[in-house]
Amino acid sequence: MSGTRSTTVRRRPQLLTSIAELRAVVASARLAGKKIGLVPTMGALHAGHLSLVETSQAECDVTITTIFVNPTQFGLHEDFDKYPRTLDDDLAALAELSVDFVFAPDADEIYRPGSSTCVDPPEVAERLEGALRDGHFRGVTTVVLKLFNMVQADRAYFGQKDYQQAAVIRRMVDDLNVPVDVRICPIVREEDGLAMSSRNRYLSKPDRLSAVSLSKALQRAAQLFSSGERSADVLRDSMREVFTIAGVANIDYISVADRETLAELERLDGPAVALVAARFGKTRLIDNCLIG
Ligand code: AMP
Repeated sequence: MSGTRSTTVRRRPQLLTSIAELRAVVASARLAGKKIGLVPTMGALHAGHLSLVETSQAECDVTITTIFVNPTQFGLHEDFDKYPRTLDDDLAALAELSVDFVFAPDADEIYRPGSSTCVDPPEVAERLEGALRDGHFRGVTTVVLKLFNMVQADRAYFGQKDYQQAAVIRRMVDDLNVPVDVRICPIVREEDGLAMSSRNRYLSKPDRLSAVSLSKALQRAAQLFSSGERSADVLRDSMREVFTIAGVANIDYISVADRETLAELERLDGPAVALVAARFGKTRLIDNCLIG
């Protein structure tokens, strides 16, 4: 026996940076009758993103992952400049999954000089994140519609992690008759329950420990519902208590809402969603869970 170890050499995905290159790839896939899946991300990929890629790969013939930190969805005082950019690591992670194409354009490629048209987001964008992050969803709907137009995918994959974003995109696709099937994939979590997020890397050790209170609070609400509680206020109070016990003071919202409109509920007579957002140091995290 020789002592040679066999190593698998993964091929890096083909990196596309211009819309022209992207369109050429899409056109040839279409011509070959292939089903195209789109996975839009801002990079700094983790297992949550990769689960979307894997679902697309299972359901489509060609998967195009986009990596673009979209400037228009960040507010003036938000973390656009500090947002992690780790293209090399991202390409390596996507190579492990044998992803064919990554579209990672510069901002100038997406927003050409003089560009000024944008998508007015639907009403569901006004609550929660929308109420706190002025212009955020306008940036999201605009860039996502642009990506839909560039890729013309059969299916597009988003995470339930950004529940309101998914609701906004679904509504936009419906309202504007965009010919794409939007798929929402489950939240991937760390072992202790913290939802994976590109921003988790910025948490200090103590903040990382208290951040688990987000998922704990949601679990508490789900448990109360399972044991028969139907008052939304009781669920909200129970979540607030979890945060208080964990010493989390900077809570942005605690919501028990309708799954489509995200209007706050009084009673849980049908399916609902619980959503939370809080700040840990300078890091703002969100999480949610379906109730009922
Ligand atoms: P982002 O790069 O944060 O814009 O996220 C890109 C996509 O990945 C969005 O559709 C997110 O909802 C999704 N995503 C982010 N974190 C997770 C997670 N922990 N589990 C599942 N999907 C996620």
